[in-house]
Amino acid sequence: MIGRATEALTEQIRQANDIVDVVGSYVSVRKVGRVFKALCPFHNEKTPSFQVNPEKQIFKCFGCGVGGDVFKFIQRRENVGFVEARAILAARVGISLETDRATPVGGISKAELDRVNRWAQQWFARQLAGPSGEAARRYAASRGFSDASVVRFELGFAPDGWENLVQAAARQRIPTDLLKEAGLVKFKDDDRSRQYDGFRNRLMFPIRDPMNRVIGFGGRTLGDDQAKYINSPQNALFDKSRCLFGVHIAKGAFDSTRHAVVVEGYMDCLLLQQAGIENVVATLGTALTADHVQMLRRYVDGVTLVFDSDEAGMRAADRALEVALAGDLEMRLARVPTGKDPADYVQAEGADAFRTVLTSAVGALECKWNQVLTHRRSNSGATDQRRALDEFMGLIVASGSLQQADPIRKGLILNQLGKLLGLPAEEINRNLALAGRRQASRSEREAPQTAGVSVSRIEGGAASVATLHLLEVLLNEPTYFDSVSRHFDPNRLANEMDANIGHAFIKYVADAEQFELSEFISRFESLETAQRVTDLHLAGADRGNFGGTVEGAVARLEQLSLQGRGRHLLSTLARPALPQGEITPSDSADGGDRDVFLAASEVVRSSSHFSARRHRGDIGRTPAAAQESD
Ligand SMILES: [Zn+2]
Repeated sequence: MIGRATEALTEQIRQANDIVDVVGSYVSVRKVGRVFKALCPFHNEKTPSFQVNPEKQIFKCFGCGVGGDVFKFIQRRENVGFVEARAILAARVGISLETDRATPVGGISKAELDRVNRWAQQWFARQLAGPSGEAARRYAASRGFSDASVVRFELGFAPDGWENLVQAAARQRIPTDLLKEAGLVKFKDDDRSRQYDGFRNRLMFPIRDPMNRVIGFGGRTLGDDQAKYINSPQNALFDKSRCLFGVHIAKGAFDSTRHAVVVEGYMDCLLLQQAGIENVVATLGTALTADHVQMLRRYVDGVTLVFDSDEAGMRAADRALEVALAGDLEMRLARVPTGKDPADYVQAEGADAFRTVLTSAVGALECKWNQVLTHRRSNSGATDQRRALDEFMGLIVASGSLQQADPIRKGLILNQLGKLLGLPAEEINRNLALAGRRQASRSEREAPQTAGVSVSRIEGGAASVATLHLLEVLLNEPTYFDSVSRHFDPNRLANEMDANIGHAFIKYVADAEQFELSEFISRFESLETAQRVTDLHLAGADRGNFGGTVEGAVARLEQLSLQGRGRHLLSTLARPALPQGEITPSDSADGGDRDVFLAASEVVRSSSHFSARRHRGDIGRTPAAAQESD
């Protein structure tokens, strides 16, 4: 979020830059009904799936998923941060930013980091090509890198020694603080006059993001350094848990395959690319994170995770299961035979053999089910299907992901589970409900004092879904806020980004006279958040029937809160509160306790009917219900 002082000026800039004009200056737009269509400037396509909505002042591509307001369009298109995009748009309409005190907080912008990284990338590349790079070139060749790959991946060499880059940068008068922030130089004992090179005697892999910015480096030691690989430090541009090596190259292949192959190392990615497996990216030695998933789902519908040992497979399977259950991406897992890593395997056996490995990949659900079965068998000697099923259902419920999936995806997943386990969908549903109840009662036993106050995981999932539905409606029809504000608690949203959006919405409506979507979006600097707002808005618009959605969500939330309160009451009463002797006369009204107990049981039992009844009276006053009755 940006400071209040800047908001007025930002708003002025936004209003002066019509999004249709701005987009139209990059690609040709054509009016179709109420929107403008264009060939997406962010991915390759032959039929236009990029839409600009002049009324809402937002854009959305239904091909690659990008979306946002006019600032986000410039951020993406020009590969700049929010502050720079704002400056570009201000200049476009002749607004002066001279009085604007809102220079980037912290001093160093993403654009500056990108620039210094680009300079370093070229410098490293020159060292690799030069006389000092001979050993590095030999090493690259010994690993099987072709000259074309070295060029394509822009590999470089950080020479041995302490001040090679330091001196080269000094000749270019590159600010020390910038070099330090990018991790290209370090200070000895925090003394800025004693700088030394951050990367020494390493083969350098530049890491680019989908927008082609050089966000950081990975360096492979060419000596016997303990740290085989080191990465750039985390900064405004580089976050190891968010980036995927090779994504700027694989992006082209994603369009045609709609599928990504994910490996764990630079070498694997580079050598698979070289062998013609073009849709491959690498995490930087980490497991797949939620941020990776979010990035990938912009480009692909499915992911194959490649791993080289059973142990790595175990870890990968849990993450894959979670992603698959949330319905975000279709997840498959492939194990490279004989414990080889993908790089060695493709070199020894060839690309076709590796493609066979990919085609033999197993779906995440099946993979996890097989693991559970194998595990049971090795423990008990016999296959106990029933217990394996219970354990598997327990895992699914515990992941909390299935509860978050929308009904259509949930249906598809239940269908898959049914096929996998050879059971009808109703049976699966029954087993899941059973596993859910078992976990709910277990968590109550384990934490009796909080049972009911913090709702169980399953109810947390349901509350999150209902709250998300409210948020989706509010982003379309903010007038509902008055009638639902009591029920709308962003803290219930399971996804942290959604929760931030929810809180920002509440703050926005408290401040502003009128809600305007694009102005709301412009308050977020992060492209991902802006995109999420656009997607939530569209999800709400697609579902339509705002009145009905609000009514359903509020009923669900009321029911959950009543159940929670009722159960809390029950567990309080069921617990022997005090030793006999200490009960004071006012506490010991036996008949009274029993009445409360019965009343609480009744609340729990009938809460769904109760809330539905009460709710109808409530919702009659919302604007949509009034409109609908017209
Ligand atoms: Zn697109």
